[in-house]
Amino acid sequence: MEKKNHSIECSVKQCANHCENADYCALEKIRVGTHEQNPTVSQCVDCESFILGAHRKTE
Ligand code: SF4
Repeated sequence: MEKKNHSIECSVKQCANHCENADYCALEKIRVGTHEQNPTVSQCVDCESFILGAHRKTE
């Protein structure tokens, strides 16, 4: 993934949609959701566009 979307900052390097050289997403848009019934803090929400990058190293 090369193209940075400056509207979507992201530090999840393990994602296949992450820009390799910068902390941005390469998608035009993403979907955010929650795995909680009643989300109260940022840890309750998730990027549902995450795809595990098969070529990524697990560090
Ligand atoms: S899809 Fe979500 S987790 Fe993956 S790089 Fe984009 S914003 Fe980050």
